[in-house]
Amino acid sequence: MIVKQEKPILVEEKSAEQVNVLDRTQKIMKQALEKMNYGQEVLELLKEPLRLLTVRIPIKMDDGTVKVFTGYRAQHNDSVGPTKGGIRFHPDVTMDEVKALSIWMSIKCGITGLPYGGGKGGIQCDPREMSFAELERLSRGYVRAISQVVGPTKDIPAPDVFTNSQIMSWMMDEYSHIREFDSPGFITGKPLVLGGSVGRESSTAKGVTIVLKEATKIAGISLAGSKINIQGFGNAGSFLAKFLYDEGAVITGISDAYGAIYEPQGLDIDYLLESRDSFGTVTTLFSNRISNQELLEKPCDILIPAAIANQITEQNAPNIQAKIVVEAANGPTTVNATDILTNKGVIIVPDVLASAGGVIVSYFEWVQNNQGYYWSEEEVEEKLKNILVSSFSKVHQTSVQLNVNMRLAAYMVGLKRIVEASKFRGWI
Ligand code: GLU
Repeated sequence: MIVKQEKPILVEEKSAEQVNVLDRTQKIMKQALEKMNYGQEVLELLKEPLRLLTVRIPIKMDDGTVKVFTGYRAQHNDSVGPTKGGIRFHPDVTMDEVKALSIWMSIKCGITGLPYGGGKGGIQCDPREMSFAELERLSRGYVRAISQVVGPTKDIPAPDVFTNSQIMSWMMDEYSHIREFDSPGFITGKPLVLGGSVGRESSTAKGVTIVLKEATKIAGISLAGSKINIQGFGNAGSFLAKFLYDEGAVITGISDAYGAIYEPQGLDIDYLLESRDSFGTVTTLFSNRISNQELLEKPCDILIPAAIANQITEQNAPNIQAKIVVEAANGPTTVNATDILTNKGVIIVPDVLASAGGVIVSYFEWVQNNQGYYWSEEEVEEKLKNILVSSFSKVHQTSVQLNVNMRLAAYMVGLKRIVEASKFRGWI
């Protein structure tokens, strides 16, 4: 799991326009709520999470020193049901980012009709520089620190950036020890032998593929033969490259945290998948590497940002050549870049819809844990497809009827349910 490398170069200079993701989310939320004629009190309720816990976790490192890590857990709104969302391990995690991500989870669950509100967690750390044993101690330490506020009917974590089924297993084990009974429904994204669901690992990419197919129908292009550039080769990006390649698309570019490779004739995805390490690093094997930013501007029919936030900005949006942008990552496109692309006629399938496959199959995993009865792969795939096709259609119809971009439409569809539930509960 541990590969020491030079420092990644993905973190680029931020321009003035790349405002904090929480400000950006609140701005779009305000527009969405105004469009639905909700009063000021609704924005007041929804603009920040209901609960936010900051923890400091002391961990003994392998060399005998102690490092204290900062972590967060945000619970945006639990009017519909328990909160749900991943935990990211990343050096750039901030409190505002975790808050925004918890709001996006509420919107994802609202659009797809899952009985959850949004939650999110994060720890400021660089797992690429930690040993397996250090990661285990950190994962267990985080669960001990947040155990009071989480649980199978309270707040259910899952994987996110740089966390995986092994980390979920340690966390589930720690939680079960604290509660003194086996608690598979505490966390999703577990391995199959510990109550995971078939199809969970590849579910984000499956979901992106499903919504992308819907978007190609609107754009009047066919997926087979389309040229696709994918930024990111982690869980979402790598599975996605494989699924789209198998559908007959030509994957012309991929990237990781260290750079990108671009080949107009198409890349050999099977070779790249075999050669990547567990953090998705593969471009370091190539001498003709270009930067992540260069890849975003390379010719393609479909561009899929599947890495981190703030990648498509007002600087590069005018040079983006794709007809469809599908946001597999959370928050890859800024507000101004969304406007620039929309004005150019680019179809943007927003993150809160495009990346919802992960949480949908997490929901299936939680249902299976609660039932103690496990489903087949066909059942998972069919249910995932049904939910996403109808979610896409709801968002697209709203965008056409109200003449707003798909992002604003997605916020409207996603927030409506929380507002209604909060009203019935007498909160507003
Ligand atoms: N971290 C994923 C997301 O951002 C999945 C969350 C979940 O499965 O609860 O949607």
